[in-house]
Amino acid sequence: MSDEERRQIRPRSMTRRYRRGLILVGVLCVVATLTAATLLFQRSYTGHVDRYLQALCTTLSDAYRLAGDGNADALADLAGDTGVRCTLIDGDGTVLYDSESTAPLTNHADRPEVRQALESGAGSSTRQSQTMGRETHYYALRLDTPAGTQILRVGEEVDNLWGLSADTLPLLIGALVVILLGAGLLSAWLTRLLVQPINRLAENLDTIEADVPYEELIPLARTVQTDRKLRENNETMRREFTANVSHELKTPLTSISGYAELIETGMAKSADVPAFAARIHKEAKRMIALVSDILQLSELDSTQAARGTPPDMGPVDLAALVKEIAQTMTVNARKAYVTLQYDARPATVEGCRDQLVELTTNLCDNAIRYNRPGGHVDLRCGVGPDGCPYLEVEDNGIGIPQDSQSRVFERFYRVDRSRSKATGGTGLGLAIVKHIALLHEARIDLQSQVGTGTTIRVTFPQKN
Ligand code: ADP
Repeated sequence: MSDEERRQIRPRSMTRRYRRGLILVGVLCVVATLTAATLLFQRSYTGHVDRYLQALCTTLSDAYRLAGDGNADALADLAGDTGVRCTLIDGDGTVLYDSESTAPLTNHADRPEVRQALESGAGSSTRQSQTMGRETHYYALRLDTPAGTQILRVGEEVDNLWGLSADTLPLLIGALVVILLGAGLLSAWLTRLLVQPINRLAENLDTIEADVPYEELIPLARTVQTDRKLRENNETMRREFTANVSHELKTPLTSISGYAELIETGMAKSADVPAFAARIHKEAKRMIALVSDILQLSELDSTQAARGTPPDMGPVDLAALVKEIAQTMTVNARKAYVTLQYDARPATVEGCRDQLVELTTNLCDNAIRYNRPGGHVDLRCGVGPDGCPYLEVEDNGIGIPQDSQSRVFERFYRVDRSRSKATGGTGLGLAIVKHIALLHEARIDLQSQVGTGTTIRVTFPQKN
């Protein structure tokens, strides 16, 4: 699924989901409770019926035994008052008497309760009635009478589970509707209670971490807060950068425009024209340097934002690089009456050669520019005792005051603005160094003392 398609799909409503979930849980609980209650009630009810039939059958058999000599008429008198079905069955299954049927009945020898009673003295069984939702419970006892073995059986028709449910169904539906309504109202209230603090959270994102209502939301709140701070910082930095760039560009442009106007209007004496043109040239060169540094920084910024590595990565021979830069910079050093020396020991890093040339050139250029006549600059590279390759530039120049040392890597920060400008500085050299080091996962150490000099060491990660 593309990002566009994902954005078009509206997220589901949390309120609706919670409400539905709560109602569902409520209904499921009610249905489960009712089913369990009906089952338990039916079990206890039929148990009660079985116990009643057993007691009745025992009492009837005692009375029947006392009353006669195995004649079915004696039972007919006794059965009349019981209100349950009484049957007297001969040992061979012939029905001798049935309180609910005057017509002759079929042989009952195959009835489970009769078979059980003949075998063990007593038997019981439950059978589905012809009426839907009802069942008949039987209890039978074997009697040894003067007329032979007989079976006395009592039976009672009762509601089964379905019968019981059908009876209470309208009530049940009524209860369910009431419970459903209650669950609906309760779930709406509970959902509002749950969702409202989350909605309120979005009203004030500045204090989101302090206001977080549920501990499960702490990671989210933390991410939002961090992201916001990062955005604000980026925005401030961007604004400051734009203001600085405009200011830096305006000064040389004003100068160029002024000198050009003097020449254009003929106000400049012809003897001054070459000097004015030289000023214009110098300011234009400053602008070119500034724009090229800005472009380079913006390129480094985008590589960093994409969390990528610099392009053209590969093994870079630091010793060769140091020698090359020392040669290039010698002319500049001489112009400033500074001695440039190098000590290039074998060292290789995994990196982008062009960027490493830029980094070393910037450090070397600063060491020359912020030096004094007769000073020296030492350019070194090698592998430290910890196995990490390093690049080091040391000078015995003017040094950087302690309180500025942490700031010199910021964009446009300069300790001495006029000296920086006079020597062609853009205020972006060390910011570029910092970015390149970051992209190479290198560490920068700065040691400096005013009047004594500065040493900047870039330590690269150890090669695997
Ligand atoms: P600039 O273009 O002004 O040199 P940089 O970013 O290269 O900008 O350096 C920032 C500031 O740090 C400089 O303006 C300067 O004041 C100070 N600085 C940098 N390198 C040195 C050094 N080797 N010795 C003394 N000061 C330095």
